[in-house]
Amino acid sequence: MPSLRAQKAHPDPLDESYIGTISLNKGPLKTAVIYPNSYTLGMSNLGFQGIFYQFATRSAFHANRFFYDPQSPLKTYSPENHFSLGQAHIVLASQSFENDFIYLIEMLRSNRIDPRVDKRLSPFIGVGGAFPTMNPHLFIDTADLVFSGEYESYIDELLLFCSNISPDAQGSKGFSWADADRMMGPFISHKGKIKGDTGTPSPDTLKDPNYSHIITPHTTFSNTFLIEITRGCRFRCRFCTVPSLYGNLRSFTKESLFKAFDLGLSKTKQIGFVSALTTQHPDLKELIHYVNEREGKVSFSSLRIEEIDDEFLELIKDNGQNILTIAPEVASQELKKKVRKSIKIARIFDLVDRSLTLRFKKFKFYFMIGFEEEEEKDLDAIIDLISHVREIALKRAKETRYMPEIILSINQFIPKLKTPLHGDPFIDQKIIKRKMAYLRKHLLPLGNIKINGDDYRENYIQWRLSHGDAELAKRIIDWVGDGFDSKKIYHTLSKRESIHPTAERL
Ligand code: SF4
Repeated sequence: MPSLRAQKAHPDPLDESYIGTISLNKGPLKTAVIYPNSYTLGMSNLGFQGIFYQFATRSAFHANRFFYDPQSPLKTYSPENHFSLGQAHIVLASQSFENDFIYLIEMLRSNRIDPRVDKRLSPFIGVGGAFPTMNPHLFIDTADLVFSGEYESYIDELLLFCSNISPDAQGSKGFSWADADRMMGPFISHKGKIKGDTGTPSPDTLKDPNYSHIITPHTTFSNTFLIEITRGCRFRCRFCTVPSLYGNLRSFTKESLFKAFDLGLSKTKQIGFVSALTTQHPDLKELIHYVNEREGKVSFSSLRIEEIDDEFLELIKDNGQNILTIAPEVASQELKKKVRKSIKIARIFDLVDRSLTLRFKKFKFYFMIGFEEEEEKDLDAIIDLISHVREIALKRAKETRYMPEIILSINQFIPKLKTPLHGDPFIDQKIIKRKMAYLRKHLLPLGNIKINGDDYRENYIQWRLSHGDAELAKRIIDWVGDGFDSKKIYHTLSKRESIHPTAERL
């Protein structure tokens, strides 16, 4: 989970530009579209942008965006800021990460909104996104409706349902449960009732690609028109949530993408392809050429190295990317078999060698540690792999007179719900620290290598929430009510070994 520390608290809304001719309506229903994390992350999330766009452009609603701001007394930042979160009639929260649950509760409580569904008449609260789809149980006592699945499959019914919400219902909820029950989209009501199909998404829900409706310089991909080119994945890595949340690979047609590229190119020359695995789009090179022929540049979110040929490597370089990201995750045969992600080591060496001739400046490798059966030899396999990459770089450096930097991002394996490895144990901090120290000891002296680790405590909370149930949610709601901030909750949660994950697995 990306850290909140990276966020810029109050980006200037004047820096934002709208795609096409969006007119934001100011209808009677004040609608807060929440991303309970930083502006930087929220504005890079196409589901959040899509929901905001749908509500902001309908005459029944007056939609404002709200992000989590730990510095503000109301814990919110709203670029529109036409009303406060506490004045909203409708609250729609898009939840990507587990820890966002804590931030959502803080935002509600700070704005005097009761997070307990049975104690609250108003506003109506709906939550959706990747995390509630993975584990809706944490939300059933907070949200009036928990949406599970992709928003495109229920957006029309949600708009209709919300447009019938009464802004000034006295002494009762401003909507009827009968209306909610008539909705066909997969949702879970406050009674925990699952409606519709929460399984693998249907291919026909994907028609037009999701893209940035608002472009801003204050995201990781600054001033970039982000566009989703595929969804799902054809691989089945056993630690990854993508296959269970988004199903098999589905690609948007090149015609629909070209049309959207034209919209984006009218505002910026930077087009960011969003996908679990960019290299899976069948017309990828054609898409890149289309953008390049119109003087645009493409940035890529993720690549699978088996599919990078020489032409594609040159295209990556020509589009201004100097860093090549490679995610083997594990290096030994035993762990490759366990996680079912098996990138051939020889292919990694070949790719590194080919990219050095094109003068790529950095190589970033992603690895995971902290598997139950992991031994010293599994860590040695990582050390061997990186040592060999460095030798290749040294050899090439004699011709190119340039030594690239090798960055290792070593993350703890978190057994997530809805993955085949969900029942694996979460490994103790002491063991993780020892493994990290071992890798640092053997890799750093080689030179030109940087190692970044992640935050153990954040990982632990992520794991707890990933498996969390209504009981855990209740405790967090009470702690926030007692004035705990997220820091104190992190601290308390990581001490309370008695709360074990008991969520029913969907
Ligand atoms: S880790 Fe990457 S390749 Fe593997 S299933 Fe997930 S998205 Fe697909």
